[in-house]
Amino acid sequence: MTHFHFPFPDGIAKRGLAVISAAAALVFAADAFAAETHLTPPEYVTQAKDILKKSIGFKTVEGFGNTYAYAEYLAGVLKDAGYADKDIEVTKMGDTATLVAWLRGDSAEKPLLLSGHMDVVAADPKDWERDPFTAVEENGFIYGRGASDMKFGVSMLVTTMARLKREGFKPKRDVILVLSGDEETAMATTAKLAERFKDAGLLLNADGASGALTHDNQPIAYYVQGAEKTYADFKIEFTNPGGHSSEPRADNAIYDLARALDKIAAYKFPVESSEITRESFREAAKHESGEVAKAMLDFADNPKDKKAIKTLRAHPEYVGQLGTTCVATMLKGGHALNALPQSAIADVNCRIWPGVKVESVRQTLAKVIDDPKASVTLIEESSTPEAPASPMRADVMAAVRKAVDRRYPGLPIVPYMSAGASDSLYFRYHGVDSYGASGLFMRAEDEFAHGLNERSPVDQIDGALDHWHVMITTLAG
Ligand SMILES: [Zn+2]
Repeated sequence: MTHFHFPFPDGIAKRGLAVISAAAALVFAADAFAAETHLTPPEYVTQAKDILKKSIGFKTVEGFGNTYAYAEYLAGVLKDAGYADKDIEVTKMGDTATLVAWLRGDSAEKPLLLSGHMDVVAADPKDWERDPFTAVEENGFIYGRGASDMKFGVSMLVTTMARLKREGFKPKRDVILVLSGDEETAMATTAKLAERFKDAGLLLNADGASGALTHDNQPIAYYVQGAEKTYADFKIEFTNPGGHSSEPRADNAIYDLARALDKIAAYKFPVESSEITRESFREAAKHESGEVAKAMLDFADNPKDKKAIKTLRAHPEYVGQLGTTCVATMLKGGHALNALPQSAIADVNCRIWPGVKVESVRQTLAKVIDDPKASVTLIEESSTPEAPASPMRADVMAAVRKAVDRRYPGLPIVPYMSAGASDSLYFRYHGVDSYGASGLFMRAEDEFAHGLNERSPVDQIDGALDHWHVMITTLAG
């Protein structure tokens, strides 16, 4: 499953690099330097770096069967820190595995889940400058597949769990580490974990980067991911008895499909907004100018503002934040150059607004096509669960504020909705409020998740560990 890694909106973050006020950036930088020296005891920084490097060495790509061994390795780290055998569970599932670890709390308050995934997407060593499965430290970065997506996050979570145990931290509620093993592909381990822990109080996901930095490492904003769109593919098919191409008839599967696609192209799903997207637009407006900035603010104030909607819809990077979108992505039709087509098929990919039913989108497409000959079906294998947005809870936002202020006092904290789907989506589906809120700040140009030469900055380890320590002790202390 592909999913979104750089804070929403990608476009805004990138534009933000160019237009963020230099004065504002300098103020944050000055505070940051004062606060950024040794937030975490050095032994944990050393340990986290060591775990990250060893983690990259486990080739946890689908089909290689290394995830169980990786989970066992991480379990060993926790045992060394004092976790009892009964509080750690490594479960094999097909060629992958899950890891669950409990830091037991002393009240009935619903658990705090810490989420991450141990698997990585494939990487072909031929294409890489360095071996993707041997961690290399160079120029202040650790390179390797999973360096940012998301063995960095996993290493920070495991180190923090180990640290909390060593420090004798007694949480009020259970703190449960839940690591999945096939987030990048089938998400079967994710589905299983989400079903099992559906009664949890909330979930924090360490996937990807939540903080955005400018080219010269000045902070732009911290993004809290509180919603993901549902992913669904639909097959639109027309069939026809066909015949000889020397005797064309009026009814023709390819023409039928072409007309249907024309209607889909022209159709716009209803405009939607949420507290998350309105807040995102307010923040994004600071990094835009002219009529786009105005449209963002106008829309945030009044999501029915027609002029604002029209302006924002003209920008592909914002369209997805205005509602459900569907677009044709693949075509297939006919079987011979000299025959009338017996079938014509298009695949239409939809990114559905959180809370909107997939079936209702299918029905809308059928209604828009308005042709009884059309069959519109959901391609079940690729679609994700229908999950609502998580509310921007005061306790979560206060913990994030506290954690972010340790490094960058006063930095804007912005909720955002991504195109999905991470592990969080499956927990939201079961009603667990879930937030992408990692401790990693990155520059857009360093974000190589799923790509070549993936890396993470070494100097982020100290702050990221502190981030998790503050988040967990605040929300579970
Ligand atoms: Zn990921």
